[in-house]
Amino acid sequence: MRKPLIAGNWKMHNTLVEARALVAGVVERLDESADVDVLMCPPVQLLFPMAKAVVGSKIMLGAQNVHEEQSGAFTGEVSVAMLKDTGCSHILVGHSERRHIFGEMGDRIAKKVRAVVQGGLTAIYCIGETLEDREAGRTMAVIDQQIDEVLTGDIPADQLIVAYEPVWAIGTGKTASPEQAQEVHAHIRSRLVDVYDAGKAEKLRILYGGSVKPGNAASILAQPDIDGALVGGACLVAEDFAAIISAVLTAA
Ligand code: PEP
Repeated sequence: MRKPLIAGNWKMHNTLVEARALVAGVVERLDESADVDVLMCPPVQLLFPMAKAVVGSKIMLGAQNVHEEQSGAFTGEVSVAMLKDTGCSHILVGHSERRHIFGEMGDRIAKKVRAVVQGGLTAIYCIGETLEDREAGRTMAVIDQQIDEVLTGDIPADQLIVAYEPVWAIGTGKTASPEQAQEVHAHIRSRLVDVYDAGKAEKLRILYGGSVKPGNAASILAQPDIDGALVGGACLVAEDFAAIISAVLTAA
């Protein structure tokens, strides 16, 4: 049985004061004994203070991006070791905003995933098709390509999480229907059987992301191959994020 994970991607939101209030609001609503993992991915400068803010709670911290090299003349970048120093355990790689706004492509993303796992952290590898791809019937082909260009059996399966985020559903208010999302998740899991084996693929968590809100979370999270959510906008409001965490338990 896969333990669900609800992850919040804060993107470029929250000052220190706002961040402390958000974490406090989530902590006060969190059932610590519930069978769900919770991750928050603040902007990088908030990782150290948020590491203090989450002490005593089950909330884990993740970063939104990383550089693939260990060190060097890369102005403005941070390495896996630097992120590890902050106490974070997970790093998002290949988020659609990194792909489409910052031009990150498959080979760079593949290097980043490797750097994350070699550094001992867990990579959340984000994949998903654009609206154009979906309308042209290319969804599964795009997913296959994104899997093939990055995932190989030498990446430890227990340091990998896949997040399926249809680009057309991110920050748009449009959500894949539970059936549409399940269809792609089942396909991803079948491809993970090819990369690893059936046993490892069965244990790997696949998150859904794309306008997940308290009102739609339960029906999405009830799908058999959806093991949690990567949440953008709704994770910035403590009661909404907490409601999505509760939804995964009712959906179980
Ligand atoms: C995201 O940024 O990963 C995301 C899914 O955002 P939103 O929930 O706002 O669509």
